[in-house]
Amino acid sequence: MSDLAQRLQAGERRALAKAITLVESTRADHREQADALLTALMPATGQSLRLGISGVPGVGKSTFIEALGIYLLAQGHRVAVLTIDPSSSVSGGAILGDKTRMEKLSMDTRAFIRPSPSGGTLGGVAEKTREALLLCEAAGFDVVIVETVGVGQSETAVAGMTDLYLLLQLPNAGDDLQAIKKGVMELADLVVINKADLDAAAATRAQAQITSALRLLPTHAQTVQRVLQVSALKSDGIAPFWAAVTALRADREASGAWAAKRRDQSLAWMWERIQAGLKQAFVAHPGVQAQLDATTAAVREGRTPASTAARQLLATFRSAP
Ligand code: GDP
Repeated sequence: MSDLAQRLQAGERRALAKAITLVESTRADHREQADALLTALMPATGQSLRLGISGVPGVGKSTFIEALGIYLLAQGHRVAVLTIDPSSSVSGGAILGDKTRMEKLSMDTRAFIRPSPSGGTLGGVAEKTREALLLCEAAGFDVVIVETVGVGQSETAVAGMTDLYLLLQLPNAGDDLQAIKKGVMELADLVVINKADLDAAAATRAQAQITSALRLLPTHAQTVQRVLQVSALKSDGIAPFWAAVTALRADREASGAWAAKRRDQSLAWMWERIQAGLKQAFVAHPGVQAQLDATTAAVREGRTPASTAARQLLATFRSAP
């Protein structure tokens, strides 16, 4: 195991891929090895900029990440790209995962691209991605991008494991209002209006609209330009975007908010996994299993108050199996 840790830290790509496969495994002995590996590597983690990116399918996520990745490699950075594909947790199907995405970036040995883990709950998929992120950091990647599609809970999961969360938007006011309504905008540290080359006037309108909407949110009371226009296809606007990222980081490092967010995220992660583990143990408990069907029926039909049912089941869970 320490051999794998050493090879990973030496930057061996195969060791990194193997380590990620290990944390993704559901076998109990693999899980033990993965925990030992992650613990051994902890001192080497935490050094990257963790950037979350989401947006609806077709907004240009992979085009943007490719353009940004190539820009960053030219600046001397090492870039890892991880994805969380919520469709993979249900069906094994992939909204994000086809192999032709980010073709140039995936051919560059200074970049590392790993598709979404599949299977299990979104929480489980997110956990594996968080651990993969730590492994990428230990392997020396100083920018780790975590991508997801803009549908549902996966955005919250990505925002919860990254330093800065970026929402990609189309230059189309209807979409922007949707995101504001859904509350996704509140998660966003940065908003990029992509495909500005298609309709400059619409992009500028969207930029103004989102900028004023964000001013209403208390978390956005800052000086850095947070809403930008980009053409990922033409690689236009990538440098100003990265300048905004760097400025935000400097701001937050100076105030202590950067480190505080990481600490909060680690603790929230721990509690989230404790809850998930407890729930799993709860439904697997033989006594609970024996009672669960009858009790849920009684609650559904209004014969037992929900809170009473919960107390009874918890009492059963606490008793010896
Ligand atoms: P994803 O589903 O969000 O990853 O979107 P893709 O990156 O696959 O892009 C979807 C389509 O939009 C592709 O045909 C891209 O070539 C195109 N596209 C992406 N960015 C731009 C852009 O800035 N301008 C224009 N005109 N097209 C773009």
